[in-house]
Formats: sequence, structure tokens, C-alpha cells
Amino acid sequence: MAKKEMRRPIESGCPDGFQYMHPVMVKNFSQWKWHDHPRPGVLRHVAESGDAIWTVRAGTQRILDVFTLRTLCDIGDEFADGHVRFTIRSNIEYMVDGEEKVNPLIDALESAGFVVGGTGNSVAMIAHTQGWLHCDIPGTDASGIVKSMMDELIDEFKNCNMPNRVHITTSCCQINCGGQGDIAINVQHTKPPKINHDLVANVCERPSVVARCPVAAIRPAQVNGKPTLEVDEKKCICCGACYPPCPPMQINDPEHTKLAIWVGGNHSNARSKPSFQKLVASGIPNNPPRWPEATAIVKKILNTYKDDARDWERINDWIDRIGWSRFFELTGLAFTKYHIDHWRGSRKSLNSSTHIRF
Ligand code: SF4
Ligand code: SF4
Repeated sequence: MAKKEMRRPIESGCPDGFQYMHPVMVKNFSQWKWHDHPRPGVLRHVAESGDAIWTVRAGTQRILDVFTLRTLCDIGDEFADGHVRFTIRSNIEYMVDGEEKVNPLIDALESAGFVVGGTGNSVAMIAHTQGWLHCDIPGTDASGIVKSMMDELIDEFKNCNMPNRVHITTSCCQINCGGQGDIAINVQHTKPPKINHDLVANVCERPSVVARCPVAAIRPAQVNGKPTLEVDEKKCICCGACYPPCPPMQINDPEHTKLAIWVGGNHSNARSKPSFQKLVASGIPNNPPRWPEATAIVKKILNTYKDDARDWERINDWIDRIGWSRFFELTGLAFTKYHIDHWRGSRKSLNSSTHIRF
């Protein structure tokens, strides 16, 4: 597309996407008539004009090194008309304008070690956040969890054996910007921060730290004659938000930083109502490098869903139909008092925060 026709980059700097699109997609923009799913990992879209385009999807590890990116781009140049795009779930997609190009492209991807799949009623690539690289909240290694789990779910990614698509997310901290997922694995801090009083006065802007706490649990204090902070442990919800403005508020530790698993979240209102995910397993060891305990629970939930759900039910639809008590019975997960948020005391604690008034 000629430069003069391109729109200006939007506020975030995102450039006009048309310049990167496959010519068949540009020509038929908004004129698609139907699409189907000829095999796992491949989609076919047919336009009103009769043009067709095949999309081949492969999983990636999201945080890609230059050498892997070069390999992926070389495959795109040689086998896929030179056009690629990344999905929000860290898959790479190649577009080709002829069916005869699909199998050689899949062969090239597989022989370079990439896995083709993640379309239709499969377990799609796990979406994950990664605070190590772009965020200041105390988190955990979401990428490591994704790698360990996807190694064990590779058949569910490559084949379409699930009742409907399954979107799994991991979020490296409790703020959970990874969002709602059919299954979500999130960090869970279980103890209030431990304060290194010797460092607070040198490192922290104390008013900023007090303001950061969502439940007003932090107060200025003096210890050994030095200005510092203290935490009302009865109010603290162990969110970790005080750590970024004040690293001496240590909340991550190998013993008390755990994982929790939530199920039934759905952002979309395309086919059924959106829903919030609900806690089903907590206090799971945050156990690198392979996280076997968390992976075993995710596999148990997936196998139960596969055996018991009706065709095309998403996980939230399935649980809505069978009810939560049956979900816990079928999966064998323990239901404990920690699964219930009774909000006792929340009016007082939330009402004293700097963020919420009601
Ligand atoms: S989940 Fe938390 S730490 Fe991770 S990127 Fe999102 S806000 Fe940052
Ligand atoms: S910011 Fe979060 S972790 Fe820190 S004291 Fe407040 S509730 Fe506790």
C-alpha cells in the first residue's frame, strides 16, 4: 500500500497494519463469506470474490530470541508468501494463497521443531503475562509454568479432542492482568510482606507506599529511631502492590508464595455470557523447574471436562450445567473454607483505602 494512504500511528505507536497484510487479505478486507477448519492448526477463509486464504498456526514461547525469530521469518519467506502475524496467545500464523502450499509449510515448521495446532476445539497456547520483563509487581516465572504445562498438553494442542476450545492463562502476579481464562494459574502470596526496616528510610517514598495499599494496611512507623513502615496484618490481603514502590517490603519467598488455579472465566460475550473465573485449588507449591503439582491439577480438570461436557460446551457452560458441587466431586479436588470469600470485614477495610469509597 502506498505510504500516503496509510493512517497515522495511533497514540501507543501501533502502525497501520495494512502494510503487513497478505495481499489477498488486503484485497478482500471485510468481504469474507465463510471459513472452515480443514485440519488442526489450519483455517481456510473464502471471500465473496472467490479468493481463498489458508492460515497455518504454530505455538511459540512468546518471549522469542532473535535466532528463533529469524528461523520463523525464514520459514515465512520460503514457504508462506512472506507474511506472518502473532496472535494474542503467542501463536505465529502464516498466510498462504494456495492449498498446495499448506503441507510443505507444516513440514518446514515441524522439522524446525515448532508444533502446529491450537485451532478449533483444542487446548490453545497458554497466554501468559511476564512481569520479569515489563512490570514491577512481585510475580513468579509464568513462562516456566507455561513451558512445563504445554510440554504435557502437546497432544491437546495438536488435536481437536476437547468439547470446545480451552483457553488457559497464567498471570505472574495476583493483579492478574492475564485476565479471565477457562483455566487460570495465578501466583498466590500467603503471608503479609516482611519489612527490612534498615532499608525503608533510604529506599522508599513512604507516602507513595502508604497510598499504594488497596486496603490501607500500611502506616508510617519508627523502628530503632529510624522512620519506616508497618503493616496491619489483619487487614493485609497479601497482594504485593507495596513491593514496587518499596522493595524492602519483601513478599515473595519460596515457602509462602504459592500458586492458585481458577476456572470458568470467559471474556467474550459472543456465544454466551462473559463470566468471572472462580478459585478451585489454592496453596499449590510454586515448584520450579517443572511445577508437577499444578500441572497434575490442570490435567485432571481437562480430563474431567473432556469426559463429562457436552459437545461445544465451554468450561463455564459445563460447570453452570452440572453445578459446583458436582464439579468438585468429579474432579476430586478438595472444597475447603478457603474457596469462599465471605467479605466479612471488607466494608471497613476497603472503605479505608485511598482508592475505594462506598
Ligand atoms: S500479571 Fe502482574 S506482574 Fe505479571 S505482567 Fe500482569 S500486572 Fe505485571
Ligand atoms: S499493598 Fe497488599 S501486600 Fe502490601 S500491605 Fe497492602 S494489602 Fe498487604
